[in-house]
Amino acid sequence: VADLDAGDFATWLVRTRAALRRERDADVPCAGCTACCTSSQFVHIEPDETDALAHIPSDVLFPAPRLPLGHFVMGYDERGHCPMLVDGVCSIYEHRPRTCRTYDCRVFAAAGLVPDDERKVEITKRVQQWRFSYATDDDRARHDAIAAAAHALEGDPAERAVRAITAS
Ligand code: SF4
Repeated sequence: VADLDAGDFATWLVRTRAALRRERDADVPCAGCTACCTSSQFVHIEPDETDALAHIPSDVLFPAPRLPLGHFVMGYDERGHCPMLVDGVCSIYEHRPRTCRTYDCRVFAAAGLVPDDERKVEITKRVQQWRFSYATDDDRARHDAIAAAAHALEGDPAERAVRAITAS
């Protein structure tokens, strides 16, 4: 399986933290990959996302469990595909939810983890291909420290990855 260039680690870390603070979108070099749109993921949509909500049919939106009124989740079809994915392309890309705009499967690669779910096997394959580059030894050490922190945490791999990345 070919390696994929995940970019400069230090630059990625700064941008990803900003994306996790919702200050910017993620800029993942997906290159046609739709693994995250086809992996049985519920897409959370918040009440302020009026543009996304206006572009998604109401019959694929459900009230988000344990969250206040106005929060929704979008489900997936029997194949695990997002209903907005049409012919392998997001049909509402310019209006897609914040969850999609900020998703970056490189967080797993940064944490040295993979999704703990057999329905996410395509994401796992992608994660195992990413290779960061490092401008300095300090950057490499920083990556190692984040991975060590993520491994010391318990729980869902995505949450552990995000916690280690935001706390470092
Ligand atoms: S809304 Fe678009 S980007 Fe988000 S999961 Fe669905 S197809 Fe993918």
